[in-house]
Amino acid sequence: MSPAARLINAAGTLTRLSGAPLAPGVLEAMIAAERFAVDMVELHADAGARIAGATGAESGLVTAGASAGLLLAAAACLARDDVARMNALPRTGPLREIVVARSQRNGYDHALRTAGARLVEVGLPDPAAGAGTRDAEPWEYAAALGPRSAALLFVARPGNHDALAEVAAVARAHAVPIIVDAAAELPPAANLRRFLADGADLVVFSGGKLLGGPAGTGMLAGRRDLVASAALQCLDLDLPISEFSPPAGFIDMSRYRGLPRHGVGRAAKLGKHEIAGLMAALDHFLSVSDAQRHAHWLSVCDRIADALPEPRIRVVNRDNPDRIPLLEIDFSSPAKACEMDCRLRTLSPPVHLAKTPRAPSSLVLNPVCLRNEDIAVVRTALRAVLPRPWDT
Ligand SMILES: *Cc1c(COP(=O)(O)O)cnc(C)c1O
Repeated sequence: MSPAARLINAAGTLTRLSGAPLAPGVLEAMIAAERFAVDMVELHADAGARIAGATGAESGLVTAGASAGLLLAAAACLARDDVARMNALPRTGPLREIVVARSQRNGYDHALRTAGARLVEVGLPDPAAGAGTRDAEPWEYAAALGPRSAALLFVARPGNHDALAEVAAVARAHAVPIIVDAAAELPPAANLRRFLADGADLVVFSGGKLLGGPAGTGMLAGRRDLVASAALQCLDLDLPISEFSPPAGFIDMSRYRGLPRHGVGRAAKLGKHEIAGLMAALDHFLSVSDAQRHAHWLSVCDRIADALPEPRIRVVNRDNPDRIPLLEIDFSSPAKACEMDCRLRTLSPPVHLAKTPRAPSSLVLNPVCLRNEDIAVVRTALRAVLPRPWDT
């Protein structure tokens, strides 16, 4: 590993800072996967069944990150069981639109457009402008759904989960599948099942965030026919159809008139090592409680806070086991916070903290990516860099 690239990530599960630490057992599972060759379709089917078991879905699929999961979810909703349409993507057939609240548009929805979807926005995010209180309403989704609608996208984040059931009911009334982007919604572990229980047809999770899997993994879970379509569009299918016999619970070949060429998702392929690693991460995630995860992260915050003088620090989410505990350090002005952020990043190794629009004069220490041995380094870095006395 290049020493020049090394840094300490106290900012959270950011992909550009190399994501979260692997859960215990993941690396071992990846090494064990090297011992022999496997049939990738059987491996995918087995992993998919385990994802289905963990989520309560009919079926599941390991994807190359949540972003690839969105691409495949869109590809499945655009092409359904039609192999010719799979081959044509990103050129779409009659189903070409994905409806989404304007307030939920974000950089990751490029993955849906990559599969060929045209995004149709509904609602007005009045609260963002401070100009009102309404966002996208159920009737607005209903008005936008029609014969060209391939799917509806709902981007889950803490605070909007309760809205899903109502939107899902609109989608169901129009027989249009609803895709939930829940990439960053784990933990709490209950969210593995929650969105599907609330009516999602497909849900996407990142494997490289707090699930603790390899950074390039994710999970797609949901309706069997849609997951099968997604699988057909990402598997390597360079073989005659007579030699392709996937488990029927994973891909029921009686639904298709042929095999697609490599699908639009083949550009986001997975190796056996990543799949094995993600399965170990999922097992570990299910074996640890939300309370245990929270207690561990809280102890990291407390061990760092102990080294810093009061009163400019506070631990957020101390009593909320569903949210990550964070250490907020107040520098009294946004300019001072920026200056301290820069100084921490010029240390060797650089220390990255996060900023939050909620408290622009503060830096936020997120404990989830810190290794045990990082804690002492962060304590020393903060003590060296923080202004003294604390009331300047
Ligand atoms: C992180 C994130 C993604 C992308 O997840 P990857 O696993 O990095 O591809 C997609 N959507 C949302 C909302 C995210 O937070």
